[in-house]
Amino acid sequence: DIDEFKMVNDGLGYHIGDTMLTEIAQRLRRALYLPGDVVARFDGDEFAIFFDRLPDLPAAFNAAQRIRQLFEDPFMIENGQEIFCNVSIGLELITSEVPIETVMRNADLALYRAKHTGRGGIEIFDQTLYANFSTRLHNETALRLALQRQEFRLFAQPIIDFEHSHCTGFEILIRWAHPDGRLRSPGQFLDIAEETGLIIPLGWWMLEVAAEQLERWQADSMMQHMTLAINLSPRQLLHSQLLPTLKSIFERYQFPRQQLHLEITEGALLNTERAEPILNALRHFGLHLHIDDFGTGYSSLTYLHRFPLNTIKIDRSFIQAALEDQRSLAIVRTIINLAQTMQLATIAEGIETAEHIQVLRELGCQAGQGYFFSPPVPLEQAADFACS
Ligand code: C2E
Ligand code: CA
Ligand code: CA
Ligand code: CA
Repeated sequence: DIDEFKMVNDGLGYHIGDTMLTEIAQRLRRALYLPGDVVARFDGDEFAIFFDRLPDLPAAFNAAQRIRQLFEDPFMIENGQEIFCNVSIGLELITSEVPIETVMRNADLALYRAKHTGRGGIEIFDQTLYANFSTRLHNETALRLALQRQEFRLFAQPIIDFEHSHCTGFEILIRWAHPDGRLRSPGQFLDIAEETGLIIPLGWWMLEVAAEQLERWQADSMMQHMTLAINLSPRQLLHSQLLPTLKSIFERYQFPRQQLHLEITEGALLNTERAEPILNALRHFGLHLHIDDFGTGYSSLTYLHRFPLNTIKIDRSFIQAALEDQRSLAIVRTIINLAQTMQLATIAEGIETAEHIQVLRELGCQAGQGYFFSPPVPLEQAADFACS
């Protein structure tokens, strides 16, 4: 697989044109040894090379290194610009017992690792790669089934206002009630859900449940002002159906829109061009936007300036270190001051002791959540907590 990049100002990827493809093919052909060796374009900028008579994998490894050397020189394109290419290679031995489709799949798995581990760009297939591949496949299937069988459960963790010491709402956190009887935490399945796209139907279902809950609480004088915060996955935030789905929800459920809060991580905002109009539309709907895990991601200051946010959630790693470590305390203080300057609210995560509350209150933080107040409880029991 060829990854091309242009060494100029924007640093963006360069789209390979026909002229460059021809030159890539010419370079690859120089790597062949014997008349029976073949190079073929496989897919896009992926190529398959069959060496007819290499004795063993070490010999194949040498051939692969030779191929990478052939790409050390840049390609020249129009107006004298230079394109550099990084070549990643996956290797597998062809034997008479293994069908060619399997050989190709194995080489592809090795290529995938070569691209993602950055260990010199060459990987040889081995059975652990296949084991990982089949575990993934197995996990993915299990998640699909879980969605069909409605095994996901929503938990809610109270958010407490420091000034009046009362509950103002909840953050919704997902759990998977696995058929083996144990609850799985999001860390055990969300990555796969995100990668496979299952997070999308899962995310729509959560919004639906949250809206239904907010509507039901409207009839309850104790609960009618409670907010619900939903974590939006990066993929869900950028999904073309997000705004239409929300519109449809607003048509079907009645509740004040400022009671629905959306939590967005900094990572999801990396693609500022795409995120900006979406966030503006969400705010225009009247929803509240939280920036989640603040301080753990990238250029946070730009985001605060650029996006229409309401609340900063201070990551629990800072809160938990703040009592022991002066620098973490300084970070928390800075985030709170920053929020005040930008007229944003603050919610501190991971409050585990009364001392945390005292320190945060002194620093001017408005609200918090954490095991000190309550762990996440099943959403159906949220009202019991709020009223107790
Ligand atoms: P998060 O949004 O930062 O959620 C807070 C996490 O901190 C939750 O873990 C919560 O159980 C945990 N927590 C709460 N209080 C305390 C405390 O006092 N001490 C400690 N040590 N931890 C505390 P959880 O539920 O395992 O969620 C992990 C992450 O998974 C969440 O981090 C969020 O990024 C993601 N997530 C959870 N539910 C959903 C969901 O429904 N959709 C999406 N897209 N992401 C979700
Ligand atoms: Ca590529
Ligand atoms: Ca969150
Ligand atoms: Ca968080």
